[in-house]
Order: sequence, then C-alpha cells, then structure tokens
Amino acid sequence: MEFHQLAYWRQQAKQLVAQGRLFINGEYSDALSGETFATLNPATGEKIADVARGKVEDVNAAVSSARAAFERGDWSQASPAARKQVLNAFAALMEQHHEELALLETLDTGKPIRHSLRDDIPGAVRAIRWYAEAVDKVYGEVAPTGDSELALIVREPVGVIAAVVPWNFPLLLACWKLGPALAAGNSVILKPSEKSPLTALRIAALAKEAGLPDGVLNVVPGFGHEAGSALAQHPDVDAIAFTGSTRTAKQLLKDAGESNMKRVWLEAGGKSANIIFADCPDLKKAAAGAAAGIFYNQGQVCIAGTRLLVEESIRDAFLQLLAEQAQAFQPGDPLDPQCVMGTLIDESHAQSVRNYIALGLEQGAQLWLDGRDASLSAGIGPTIFTGVGNDMRIAREEIFGPVLAVTTFTSEDEALRLANDSDYGLGAAVWTRDLSRAHRLSRRLKAGSVFINNYNDGDMTVPFGGYKQSGNGRDKSLHALDKFTELKTIWIALEP
Ligand code: NAD
Repeated sequence: MEFHQLAYWRQQAKQLVAQGRLFINGEYSDALSGETFATLNPATGEKIADVARGKVEDVNAAVSSARAAFERGDWSQASPAARKQVLNAFAALMEQHHEELALLETLDTGKPIRHSLRDDIPGAVRAIRWYAEAVDKVYGEVAPTGDSELALIVREPVGVIAAVVPWNFPLLLACWKLGPALAAGNSVILKPSEKSPLTALRIAALAKEAGLPDGVLNVVPGFGHEAGSALAQHPDVDAIAFTGSTRTAKQLLKDAGESNMKRVWLEAGGKSANIIFADCPDLKKAAAGAAAGIFYNQGQVCIAGTRLLVEESIRDAFLQLLAEQAQAFQPGDPLDPQCVMGTLIDESHAQSVRNYIALGLEQGAQLWLDGRDASLSAGIGPTIFTGVGNDMRIAREEIFGPVLAVTTFTSEDEALRLANDSDYGLGAAVWTRDLSRAHRLSRRLKAGSVFINNYNDGDMTVPFGGYKQSGNGRDKSLHALDKFTELKTIWIALEP
C-alpha cells in the first residue's frame, strides 16, 4: 500500500467529485423533495458535496424496491455460491478504488488518511470478502427424530434489512452489516450518518458493477429524525441492524414495538475499562495499548478504553509511560500521511467534548494532560484526567473524544467492582502476568470482549458487541449471520 505525500492527497482532493445522490433500485437520483444538505470537511470547514436529504417518501421508495427485489428472488433465492461470486467481485472493486474511498472517508470525517488507507478501507473489503467466502460453507441441520419423520432446520434470509450506521468508521461499520446481510440473501437499505454519507453512496455503484441485482442494495442518506426514523417505523422493514448511540438505540426499540415488531439489533455506546495490574508483563506495551485504546480515531471509538484503572503502586510510573506514548497523538492535517490524529467529526461534537473536560474539572478531577489548545478546527489533543471517582460524569458517560479518566485501585476485587460499575459493557482489558487472575477476571467482567495483555486486538473471526446498554446481537464472525437469517423448521411426516 502506498501512503504517498501530503501534496498528492491535496491534489487528489481538489480533483475529487463526490457522489451525493441517493441510490434506489440501481440508480442514483435526487431526493423526491429535491432537498439537499451539505457535508463538510471537519478539518477545514469546507463543503465537500451537496447530499440528497432522504425523507419518508424516499425511504418508502427504497423499501418498495428492496421488497420487490427480495420477492423477485434473483438474489434472495440465488445459490450461496452465486452470491459469493458477486460479493467477491464487489470486494475486489472496493479494493481497486481504495485510494478514492480512503480519501472520501478522510475528507468526510477528519480521520487520518493513514488510518483510512490502512484500517478502514481494507477492513471494509475484508468484511465483504469474509462473508462471501463463508456463506457457502454454512450447513443446515437434520434434527434427531425417529424413523417415521424427517425434520430439517434451515436458515433463510430475513427479508428487508435497514442498516443504520454512525460516522466514526462509516464504511467499515456499514460493511460489517452489508457482508452478512447480503451474503445471507437479504435486501438492504443502508442509511449512513448525515455526517459521513460519501463512501456509502460511492460503493452502491461498485456493488451494481459487481453484479448485485437492482434493488438489493439501496442507500438513503439523510438525518436520523427523518430517514432514520422512517426506516425504524416502516411496517415493511423486517429488521434493523444499527450501530450508534445508546440514546438512538432505545428509540429504535420503541419504534419497532410501535410498528411491526421488526427485529432490532443494536451495537451501541461504551465506557470500557482498561485494567493495569502491577504485575503487568510489559508496562511500556500496556502504556502504548492504553494510549492507542483512547486516542486512536480521536477517541471516537465505541470500544475505546476510556476508563484506565491502574494499581495504586504503579500509578506514577505508568502515567509517565503513558505521557510518552500520548505524544505521538498530536492533532495534525488528516491528509498528511504522517498524521495519526486528525480532527473530531465537527465543531459541535468538539464543543461537547470540551464541555466534558470542563465538567471533569468542576467535579474535582485533576487535568493531568490538557489537549484543548490544539490549533486545527474541531481538533482536541490527548487529554488525561487523574483522581477520577467512578461516580463522576466523566467516568460514567460516553464522551467520544480523546479524554481518558484514570482511577486507581488497590485490590483485584476493587478493580473488578469498578470495571463492572457501568451502564455499558462493550469491552474490557486486563494486563497481568498472573494467568489465573486473567482467566478469573475475563469470566467475571461484564463485557462482550475481554482483552488480556492487549487492547482491542481481533479480526473477522470473532464476534463484536456488547452487554448491558452497549447493545445486543453481534457483528463479525459467523454469529453475525444470526441477525440476518431466520431459523425455519420443516417437519416431514414419512409414509410408513
Ligand atoms: P447516533 O445514534 O446519533 O447516530 C447513528 C445513526 O443513527 C446515524 O445514521 C443517525 O442518522 C441515525 N439516527 C439518529 N437518530 C435516529 C432515529 N431517531 N431513528 C433512526 N435513526 C436515527 O450515533 P453517532 O453519533 O452517529 O455515533 C456515535 C455512537 O455510535 C457512539 O455512541 C458510539 O459508541 C456508537 N458506536 C457503537 C459501535 C458498536 O459497535 N457498539 C461502533 C461504533 C459506534
């Protein structure tokens, strides 16, 4: 992979023409109202494109197209091997266009081009390819009945899926839904965040070019309270696969209950604990893991290690190592391939993060490292609070920025109690050389993923999702197919 130079990306950005129209039934078109909204580059405040403002009537058209495609059967009833071929071609086209997609992602979100090229786009391609390769290896079951009957348990596509995704990893998270949903034979309406719609719109054409039949993938950009809500309340959407905030997740549960009881799959917020014991095998590695765990993607990561629980006896030594690691994360120009920390998604989100920093001070935490004087628009550098009580709002609420809350503990029981004392349960990490302790804690921590002597390692083979108010269901791995398939029992009475 070629990272190029800053001048190259600036030139590419100048020449880029972003697709802003919605994609329904295999065609780009304007919103029926003709309305648009601007999508901005958070690093410069400049407009990248006018984007169609999808509303209820556009959602209705997209759902009709998805339903017609599903009933037509050229995708839903195609053999898994045939679907695999198309999805592999789709992945290959995304790979061919990876520079364009990475540039769109960086301009739209302010994330470093280095990370879009290295993480987001390859991760999205991998997700599509993984499910393409998996789907023709998933067998049904024959139930252990007596000789006079035959009972089959088969998986069928659910039907019309609404995939509603956020802005922190726009294409990657979209593909965590699209991969299993499409591989299983569903039709999908993808609703990207209003803050980052461009890669979703671009890949729609690539999916068509790869051979995906019209209507199987529709992309409707727009606002949560308009396009998002219309999908959540729609009587002909069979399931909603959501990634975003816990607040929106709760609303989706209500909307589903009040409409057609569509299945609701939720990947929501987090406030994950990263626990460092004094017997950690490599404190420098733990400090690097802790820094990346909170500062990567400007802290806008659902599973960010936002609460650092460190054993009292190593607190000062560990903070020193952490400060050294934090230095690498100085905000810079996201288009500079050397930059590893870009800007937050927009100024209003940056202001909300600054408000949390002020709140931490008000509630009595000490600002050990202050990242607020960064010069870029919407930029905030690494920020670390010490002396944080677990009842403070900066320890309980999702800040979604590069702000770390450090709390000390003196015993394993106290560490466990602090870690589990949260409304969320997405991830947790334990750094220790004591295997028994690692195993004990990994079973007692209430989190969907527990990392031992690493922070947030993993790949497509393992499920990702949360306990408690971090959500339900799982993205990634074969388990994600559970969200996008219905189990059917076929009971056959045999002639004697
Ligand atoms: P958000 O909930 O504001 O928006 C997410 C998506 O939902 C967007 O497309 C938005 O337009 C849509 N939406 C908003 N209101 C809606 C409504 N009433 N009905 C239907 N759709 C609606 O979240 P965000 O600010 O875009 O993303 C940040 C959040 O996402 C954080 O809380 C983060 O933890 C979470 N997240 C979770 C995971 C995970 O896997 N658990 C991964 C990434 C991000």
